[in-house]
Amino acid sequence: MARSGYFFPDKTSEICIVNLIIQSKESEVMIPAKGYASQNPEADLAPWNFQIREVGPHDVQIRIMYCGVCHTDLHQMKNDWFPGIFPMVPGHEIVGEVVKTGGHVKKFQPGDRAGVGTMVDTCGSCHDCTNGHEQFCSEGAVWTYNSMGKDGHPTYGGYANTIVVNENFAFQVSKTLDPAGVGPLLCAGITTYSPLRRFNVGKGHRLAVLGLGGLGHMAVKFGLAFGADVTVLSNSPVKRQAALDLGAHHFVDTSDTGQMVEVKGSFDFIIDCVSAKHDLNLYLGLLRTNGVHICVGLPVEPYEISPFSLLSGNKSVVGTGAGGLQETQEMLDFCATHQITADVELIDIKNIQAAFERMVRGDVRYRFVIDLNSL
Ligand code: NAP
Ligand code: ZN
Repeated sequence: MARSGYFFPDKTSEICIVNLIIQSKESEVMIPAKGYASQNPEADLAPWNFQIREVGPHDVQIRIMYCGVCHTDLHQMKNDWFPGIFPMVPGHEIVGEVVKTGGHVKKFQPGDRAGVGTMVDTCGSCHDCTNGHEQFCSEGAVWTYNSMGKDGHPTYGGYANTIVVNENFAFQVSKTLDPAGVGPLLCAGITTYSPLRRFNVGKGHRLAVLGLGGLGHMAVKFGLAFGADVTVLSNSPVKRQAALDLGAHHFVDTSDTGQMVEVKGSFDFIIDCVSAKHDLNLYLGLLRTNGVHICVGLPVEPYEISPFSLLSGNKSVVGTGAGGLQETQEMLDFCATHQITADVELIDIKNIQAAFERMVRGDVRYRFVIDLNSL
């Protein structure tokens, strides 16, 4: 059954389908796994034992070392965008060690370091799959969690000790990089790398990064690596020094009208990484003529855009969703060459709820990463 990230049947029918499929597959050999799951949208995460499929000929099994905590995990656990599949084991910023490979696996050997990002399967043959945009697969990508796998089982993510995935959806990770800082590259990294590459952002461009969280700090790092002049736009004035320490050339407190007026009409690109409701019209005014506002954040409420904000200066508003398989590997290789990783706060999985609360307050520098040894 195909599922796209943004088109879901109603929750009741979904749960029935899940139960039916699990019952009909009772004779299958499964691998026991343990992790943290939420049992419904109101519940906190708690320890949970579950089963995943045995390693098939094209699969690898990964012992998960670290998993980043993406704001998307919280949106999905809370049914912010659509009804989810519960129990839900979140996590799509996974890095670990390959412990078992299927007979036909070519890319990995046991002992290799591997990463898994937002998706674990697609049709492989549609226009998008054959053009490097597997995340937009016309049959609907199978997402790493909160999705229905082609094996008929719900998918479970990286807040767990292990995952089995087709080798095409696992990425090679250089052992020269600190693995804890690699996890967030698999979502926050590719989601910001991809649009900056698409628009050839680099030397001579003024790039503004709106919202200095997990995605935002990776956008700063890539913007700097590509040679752009980088400004952080933040509603947290306390982040000024931290932003400059990251290497940003300028910092603007978006709650200070004076500072906002100073940068009016000055940016070629704004990459918008904000997770909550905000007024795009305000930020469109900060773009130069022909400037582009790149939406990567996913607030629950739709944006309201005045046509005047767009036509005055030929502005564009565009979106971007994660990245394709080849581009994700390219991004990881770029990070290995330039020694780029996320700045992380390592946490014990028992402290995940406190981490969510701090993330919602914007109080994280810049990504919580779960150490799965603590499971
Ligand atoms: P995050 O670490 O929580 O960062 C979000 C940042 O938004 C905060 O640090 C804060 O930055 C700013 N912010 C929060 N509330 C705000 C408010 N009320 N007004 C203005 N600014 C506010 O989240 P993340 O993990 O980076 O994810 C950001 C968004 O991207 C989420 O909605 C997530 O679901 C989405 N996402 C999209 C994709 C995709 O494929 N497009 C992939 C991954 C994630 P300041 O304190 O600096 O203002
Ligand atoms: Zn994510």
